[in-house]
Amino acid sequence: MEDKVLKIKNLSVEFSTSGESFKVVNDVNLELEKGEILGLVGESGCGKTTTALSILGLLPKNAKITGGEILFEGKNLLLLSKEELRKIRGKDIGIISQNSMSNLNPIRKIKKQFIESIRTHVDISKKEAHEIACEMLQKVNLSDPERIMNQYSFQLSGGMRQRVMIAMAIALRPKILIADEPTTALDVTVQAQILEEIDKLRKDFGISIIFVSHNLGIISQLADRIGVMYAGEIVEYGFISSVFNNPIHPYTKGLLESVPKIENAKKILKAIRGNPPDLSKKHFGCLFYPRCDYVMDTCRCKKPKLIKIKEDSMGACHLINKNSLGNKIINL
Ligand code: SF4
Repeated sequence: MEDKVLKIKNLSVEFSTSGESFKVVNDVNLELEKGEILGLVGESGCGKTTTALSILGLLPKNAKITGGEILFEGKNLLLLSKEELRKIRGKDIGIISQNSMSNLNPIRKIKKQFIESIRTHVDISKKEAHEIACEMLQKVNLSDPERIMNQYSFQLSGGMRQRVMIAMAIALRPKILIADEPTTALDVTVQAQILEEIDKLRKDFGISIIFVSHNLGIISQLADRIGVMYAGEIVEYGFISSVFNNPIHPYTKGLLESVPKIENAKKILKAIRGNPPDLSKKHFGCLFYPRCDYVMDTCRCKKPKLIKIKEDSMGACHLINKNSLGNKIINL
């Protein structure tokens, strides 16, 4: 797999409700390189979290992976048993999610949970696990680890809980960290600190990170590459500078224009009109066409394919060959 630590190939996922199934992730391809941060962005329901959770088999009961491969160290994770996947989860691939309150058990002290999560994967004493836990809490800037270890999650602030979650996720130095909107519930100053921690951990430990967020401002600060998802599909993919400075898909352009900027504080933000499509219904053509300012006749009947534009840069839009998006530099 050269420098690629993870390859997602043609991943498709369906959800079932009321006896009907519909695709929420459609033919997604992604690659994660060693030590890089790959940002996955898009509106709620675009499939970014479903894609990320598929890696660790953490999808809800009504979800079913209907196609594709997720390759990690030569193994297709989708073919592993629950037990085999459980061994990888937390050890080789860690995860942090946005809701630390529901991920930490409020009736057990942090030390119980932390030590147990380490000893599930490695055969060491409680004392050794305790030492690792304290070391990791210090790594994420919790200066009094012994005190934190003796507290319950409800006694900690949101930022502290999230730091505990990060410390637990990286305690065994995983090769990959999946960060699913890890700063959404935090205020902006704590958010900035947590992002700094994550970036530092990537540098210190060489961890590869998939960072899921609806916030393009965050992704712009952190990620090396970005996959923009719309209605369960990747519509644009490439290096962060290229995608942010020259978006090739109108949806990416719309997302960038809807990010608040200090210099435009008095202007009304440009929103993308309309709503994402109802994926339980059948659609023709480009899924974005009802909301697109650049829609052409062909868009209504022919679905654009994700095509390579230049090295490591892809887009799915009929405009690509016409070069008529009128790109300009966008500074976030
Ligand atoms: Fe807009 Fe057409 Fe491109 Fe879809 S294919 S994003 S409708 S221009």
